[in-house]
Amino acid sequence: MIRFNVPYISGKELEYITDAMNRGHLSGDGIYTKNCNRIFRERLGFQHPFLTTSGTDALEMAAILAGIEAGDEVIIPSYTFVSTVNAFVLRGARIVFADSLPNHPNIDHTTLEELITPKTRAVVVVHYAGIACDMDAIMDIARRHNLIVIEDAAHSIDARYKDKPLGSIGNFGAFSFHETKNIVCGEGGMLSVNDPALSHRAEIIREKGTNRTAFFRGEIDKYGWVDVGSSFLASEILAAFLFAQLESLDEIQKKRLAIWNRYNTELAFLAERGFGLPLIHEYASNNAHMFYLLCPSLEERTKLMQHLNSNGVKAVFHYQPLHESAFYRSHNPGMNRELPNSVRFGDTLLRLPLFAGLTAADQDTIISQVAAYAGAR
Ligand SMILES: *Cc1c(COP(=O)(O)O)cnc(C)c1O
Repeated sequence: MIRFNVPYISGKELEYITDAMNRGHLSGDGIYTKNCNRIFRERLGFQHPFLTTSGTDALEMAAILAGIEAGDEVIIPSYTFVSTVNAFVLRGARIVFADSLPNHPNIDHTTLEELITPKTRAVVVVHYAGIACDMDAIMDIARRHNLIVIEDAAHSIDARYKDKPLGSIGNFGAFSFHETKNIVCGEGGMLSVNDPALSHRAEIIREKGTNRTAFFRGEIDKYGWVDVGSSFLASEILAAFLFAQLESLDEIQKKRLAIWNRYNTELAFLAERGFGLPLIHEYASNNAHMFYLLCPSLEERTKLMQHLNSNGVKAVFHYQPLHESAFYRSHNPGMNRELPNSVRFGDTLLRLPLFAGLTAADQDTIISQVAAYAGAR
């Protein structure tokens, strides 16, 4: 079976973890955290990065820093991962789901203003497959209505909107280094705090609400409990692993992009057979996080997925619209808004294997199995 994903290993991970062990500092904020932060700043353009133990944690930190309180409304696309929403549900927010664009799973920003009420505090955007949402339009709406913008940039390492790195444009950008993302450390994440005035509070919130970080910098003579918080910071073991990955980012991206481009070229004929191929808006770069097909219907997707799975290719669908989830329904009875684009992506989107180590021979097999199915239709 050709796997859907195999995490990339640069070869330096164990060496760096061993070094961290030998240094005798395994909790957070040691030398490997600093090494990662240097790459986040210098290579990736995030001035206030905070390494976390997951992308979920980065979103939860953002929700606390955004000051979301019970009863606040937060606008979030329905077509996303549960963590995008849970982070705000945990603050007591009321979730207002937005639909996707007709031709892309990203939030339909043209519907945003009609969802805003006096209680709206924030909008969360997800750059699906690492393809940018229309951030100029979204930031303009946010400014006019005084909203906080959180970018769920879990798919979006090394991706841009025009010349700006995704995750650096809104008030906060949340990244994930889960093993299914472009660079990984098993489970891990990073919050980019883009408002420098909030970086001091970010330091406290991830240290259980204490000013321990300032204490270790020698700025205060004892530390104590000064705010709410949790344990969000990542250990040096995770940071050491991640540093090896960050050092290999260019190589990983080159490999992924070559695989993505080959799919896009050799499967282009599917457009004449009723399938959709990934759209990259003119303002977005492509970080080759994902290659997906949009099947003509749910039935077709089920059949294509079965065809691939029974011919040795692991292809998988993705999000199920959260406005139709059991949890949301049971907590929001009577909320029956139609979000047809979100539902359609839930029904028709199929992801093909894409990872840096995918061999040309395996990609041959995948492409010819998709072609065999589409030709037989
Ligand atoms: C992966 C992912 C997350 C969560 O990241 P974890 O590191 O798994 O906690 C959040 N949002 C989106 C869109 C994701 O794909």
